[in-house]
This record gives sequence, C-alpha cells and structure tokens, in this order.
Amino acid sequence: MANIWATEAWAIVIAACSLILLGELGGNWFFAALITLGSYISWLYYRLLKLETWIRSGTRLSQVYEDNGFVGIIIRQLYEQKKIHNQRKRKTKRVLRRLNRNISALPDATVLLDNEFRIAWCNEPARYLLNLRSPQDLGYKISNLIRDPELLTYLNEPESRDSIEIESQIDENITIQVKLVVFDDNQLLLIARNISDQKQLQQSLKNFVANASHELRSPLTLIVGHLEMLEAEKNLSDAGQSSLQTAQRQAGRMKKLIEELMLLSQVESSSLEPGEGEKISISELMNNVIAALEEYAGRDRVDLDYPEDLSLLGIRVEIEGICINLIENAIKYSTPGTAIRVRWIVNDRGEYLFTVEDQGPGIDPGEIPRVTERYFRGAKSRAETAGSGLGLAIVKHAAKKHGGRFSIESKPGQGSRFSVNFPSYRCIGAPTRVDEAANLTDR
Ligand code: ADP
Repeated sequence: MANIWATEAWAIVIAACSLILLGELGGNWFFAALITLGSYISWLYYRLLKLETWIRSGTRLSQVYEDNGFVGIIIRQLYEQKKIHNQRKRKTKRVLRRLNRNISALPDATVLLDNEFRIAWCNEPARYLLNLRSPQDLGYKISNLIRDPELLTYLNEPESRDSIEIESQIDENITIQVKLVVFDDNQLLLIARNISDQKQLQQSLKNFVANASHELRSPLTLIVGHLEMLEAEKNLSDAGQSSLQTAQRQAGRMKKLIEELMLLSQVESSSLEPGEGEKISISELMNNVIAALEEYAGRDRVDLDYPEDLSLLGIRVEIEGICINLIENAIKYSTPGTAIRVRWIVNDRGEYLFTVEDQGPGIDPGEIPRVTERYFRGAKSRAETAGSGLGLAIVKHAAKKHGGRFSIESKPGQGSRFSVNFPSYRCIGAPTRVDEAANLTDR
C-alpha cells in the first residue's frame, strides 16, 4: 500500500519539478502550469482507459497487467474476485457434468421442458422410448413431436393427475407411463418409463380371472340346481335344513361374485361405437332393476323419478349393472329409514344424467379417488358390510364404454351423489328439458 502512495507522490513531485523547470525556462507560468496539469490528467486518463478496456474484455486473468498506483488496487481486487469466480465456475461445471452423466444413465427417459413445452434437454433413453433426438429436437415443442391428445391435456394441467399412459410412437405394443413434475417457474420435468411388461401381466391376470369365472359358472349353476332339488326334499332333518340354507347362501354369494367378475371383464375388454347397442326403454330398464333388487330390505326407500318416454342406446346388461350397483350401494351404506333419490334427467344439451343420491355416511375424501379401483373397499365398509369391491369399478368402466362420465360427490356425514352422464348420441327421443340436475339437493 505504501508503495502505491509513493508512486502517486513521485508523480506529483515530477509534475511539480516539470512546472518549475518549464516556468523558469519559458518565463510563462500559466502556459507551464497548463502543460504540466494536462500531462498529469492525460496520464491518469490513460490508466483509467486501460482499466476500462480490461474490464470490458471480461477481466481475463491472462490479460491482467501491473499498475503501481491507485488503479493497481482496483486491478488487484478485480483479479482476486475473478479468480474466486472462476474456481466456483469450474466446480459447478464439474457437478453439472457429473449430474448430467448420472441422469443420462437413468433407465427412465427424462426430458426437461420450458414453460412453453419446448425441449431444453433429454437423456439417452428418451431417444429410443420417446423417439426424441438430441440435439436435433432441442427447442421443439414436445406436443409437436409426440402427438397424443392425452399428453397435451396433461401438459396443460400437470397437477390434475399423477401420471398418464400413452402408446409408443415407434411400436404400438409398447405402453409408456408419463409423469410430469413441475419445478422452478413453470418448467417441467417429464419422466417416461416402459410399462408394457406390467400391462401385459395385468392383462394376463384379467384374462385369467375372466376365464376362471367363466369356467366356474357352469359347475356352480349345477350345484345351485342340486341345492334347489334338495330344498324340495321333505325328509331333511333340522340340521340338514340348516346346512342346506348355509350352502344356498354361500352359493348365492359365489354366483354374484362370478357374475360381477364376468361383467367387469366384459365392460373393460370391448369398446362400443357411437351407433352401436340396442334401444333400451328407461321405464322397462328401471322395472327390471327394481325387480333385481327384490331381495333387498330397504328397497321401499328408493324414490324413483324418470320420464316415461326415454330410451337409451347401449348394452342392456351393462346399463342395468350401472343402475343396480349404484342403488344397491345406496341401500347398503345409508342409514335405514333415510330416502334414496334415483333420477333420470335430460339436460339442455340432450344428454341423460342418471343420479343416485343417499343420505348415508358419505365417503372419506381420501378414499374417493380409489373407490372405483377393482377390489377396493372403504376401511369402514370392510369392517361392517359384505362386498367384493367391484361395483363401482363396473359402473366406471361401463359408463366409459358408453361414452359417458361417472362422477362422485360426497362429504363425510352428508351423504353421496353418484352420477353417470350419457352422451346425447346415446339418447333416443330426448326432448330438450331444463337441466334439473341443478335442482338436486345442494350439498
Ligand atoms: P363394495 O360395495 O362391494 O365394497 P363398491 O365398488 O361398490 O364395492 O364400492 C367401493 C367402496 O365405495 C365401498 O367399499 C364403500 O366404502 C364406498 N361406497 C360405495 N358406495 C357408497 C355409498 N353410497 N355411500 C358410502 N360409501 C360408498
């Protein structure tokens, strides 16, 4: 530091000596002062300009220079800062390179998207799973490269679902599960994995269950027939009668389970074109449904309302499955004595809305997304009632197969409302009516 000020002091001394010398020799002190001051200021400007050029070039360490005056202090400070900055940069680069190597080695395809769904980066598995090429596809919108309407909806609402399943663009036999993670200013991390094996396993399991149910039906029908014959037998002892009744009850449960499994595999395995299906009169359908619920105590609580002249285009047994399961659940889970409202309504878009409302215990909000899963039973229901956990899965898939939507509104302690919305192309003779759905009890 002392050295710096000594340099500056020397410069001032030299300037003063030059002033005296020029003044004495020339005899014009004003001119001498002008020349000396001008030289001194020019020298300062020259040093500052040199500093500015170095800063503008990015304070490169290779271009650093010496200045013994006060400019040297600034140069040294900038030099030290640049050195620390470069060390940090090198360290960050090393970490990023390592991270890049690790992410690239992930077995799942990983794609980084900006807030307009443009590809910022992708790893190697994204190449063979999603058919994306790096660097050629970088900067392109992923929705233009993977054309799938479901993916587009998911990209716009990533919080709406946990993940989606799409078909591979390269091989239609490959099913890909796509998961989106939102981070940092609406950027998206897309993680995709091949779940074809899982899907195949699930399909084999479904096929097995469907085949086993089919194979079990004939022997069971035979057993039920023999039990009925035994029922007519007069000489049975009391113990024999009791065993017969137990056997009949269990056979009945088994028959119901097999029928449900077969119906579920039917609604899941085939699709229905918009014009396909038979014309089903709603009043006839509801008569059959009520007759099927004959054995149910509490059936009289059902308050039924539907327009007489409506018909629906669909598969009778599947539409009956929707109605029976929803009404049966409402009877089974709601408090005895409370009313159950069953309605067929036509809305102003000509769609049919089938609703079942009860005043039962309602469904826990955490369980609502899961009740349509096959074999799922609510924690309380498992402990208190008998059931297979297949009813709402049948309703969901049958509604989907008919192009409809199944929805559940429920609050614990305030009852539930289950609705199936059938598209207008399935509705025959639907006069346009005011949407009565809005008039249903507000929960
Ligand atoms: P299951 O009735 O055989 O258990 P479902 O698939 O029909 O199977 O229903 C799944 C679960 O949804 C039930 O276990 C129950 O917890 C819940 N649930 C269905 N309907 C109702 C309802 N009306 N009120 C309350 N909970 C219901």
